[in-house]
Amino acid sequence: MKRWILIAPVLVCLCLAGCFERIVAPKDVFGSIKQGETYSPASNMIDNWYAVEAIDARTFAINEPKSSQYNTSYLIAGDERAIMFDAGSGERPAGSQSMREVAERYTDKPITLILSHFHYDHIYDAAKFDGVTLIDRPEIRANIRGDAYTISALESVDKEMPPLKVAGLIADGDVIELGGRKLDVLNLPGHTTESVVLIDRLGNQVFTGDFVYQHLGGIIAFAPASNLTAYKANSARLLRLTNAETQFFGAHGVPHFGRDWLTLLDRELGKIVTGEANYRYVAHYLAPGIPWRVQQNGDMYIYTTPLVDPPLFWSKWMLLVLAGVSTLSLYLFYRVVRLPFIPPGSKHDVTHPGREPYGP
Ligand SMILES: [Zn+2]
Repeated sequence: MKRWILIAPVLVCLCLAGCFERIVAPKDVFGSIKQGETYSPASNMIDNWYAVEAIDARTFAINEPKSSQYNTSYLIAGDERAIMFDAGSGERPAGSQSMREVAERYTDKPITLILSHFHYDHIYDAAKFDGVTLIDRPEIRANIRGDAYTISALESVDKEMPPLKVAGLIADGDVIELGGRKLDVLNLPGHTTESVVLIDRLGNQVFTGDFVYQHLGGIIAFAPASNLTAYKANSARLLRLTNAETQFFGAHGVPHFGRDWLTLLDRELGKIVTGEANYRYVAHYLAPGIPWRVQQNGDMYIYTTPLVDPPLFWSKWMLLVLAGVSTLSLYLFYRVVRLPFIPPGSKHDVTHPGREPYGP
């Protein structure tokens, strides 16, 4: 009897671990668009990896339709210089063009690289550019050595990157002059602390990186530097800075989307921070095995960490708790395996003392 009291909960846990929903297939980009296909007839394959759409004469969406997360980087040019916003997913085949080589096909102006954030799927070709312009935050400034910045394994959620030459710093509220075109710089923590969003006010275009995008993979708010409270505050800030006609361009999925999508994100983040979220636990292709919490409304999925919010989930306290639970589980498993099988009614069966045989 004792043996099953211990084994049953273990079996229940194992069953639950295998039963978390997978609500989105990785190849589903959005609507009828699948990974590997271009998102629009206006987006043309320029080789067997990149597809490019000229949003207008000075703005280009450089898409990687075959990448696992359907990435897009942006070339935003003015009369005197251009910004490259992100540097590729890192999944391009060996020997293919770098993001810089692609960008130089569409502008003859000097290119400044700005990263929307430091995750591995946005930074691959960063070292191919002459330097990188970083968002001015205390922790970034503190880690610049000479004129180099090294994106750590924790920041990239992958491996440590080779050092990047720092070409300059830009701060929240700065305006980048490109010649006949200006970009406002916003630092909007939420997805990550260093998340950058660029606004072309005259053209009414916003380049959002991973802060918001339209991809069935969902919005990621479970990274080590994710912060749900900041996310909500900054989605409200971005709403105030845009209007119904603003064109939004994200880094994953179908690049173009409207402000209604940001409104929906803001509303769902509002439910999360006020405790009104209706979470489900799901498996997700970005981290199989971890049961993320997801808040869903229609096609909007916001993924965050299980049980507790990201800062606590990724803290050393959670590591300690996990280590404790693992040790306890191993100990229980060891005890179960070592339990002797006791037939009911036997001499040692204390659950049926009445059957104790009398002695001669
Ligand atoms: Zn990303």
